[in-house]
Amino acid sequence: MEFKKSTRGPSQDPDDKNRKPKRVQKKKVCQFCQDKAAEVDYKDVSRLKRFITEKGKMVPRRASGTCAYHQRELATAIKRARQVALLPYKAE
Ligand SMILES: [Zn+2]
Repeated sequence: MEFKKSTRGPSQDPDDKNRKPKRVQKKKVCQFCQDKAAEVDYKDVSRLKRFITEKGKMVPRRASGTCAYHQRELATAIKRARQVALLPYKAE
């Protein structure tokens, strides 16, 4: 009698379910590097707004994809923009 192979599932690898699901993510590129911007303009509110949440918090680098250098510049720019009331410290 011939032993029939299981036809369940596409994979026969027993390790398969122990493996973490691969998170396919689109590669994020620093927006400022892309625009070849050397510094971040604190007066450019429309751009800064893309890097803050609706609550007014800064979006972390891991979420926005901003590089270390520009994230630092961005932080300064956002703080500066808050001081001159272009951006809120905290949205209600
Ligand atoms: Zn950058």
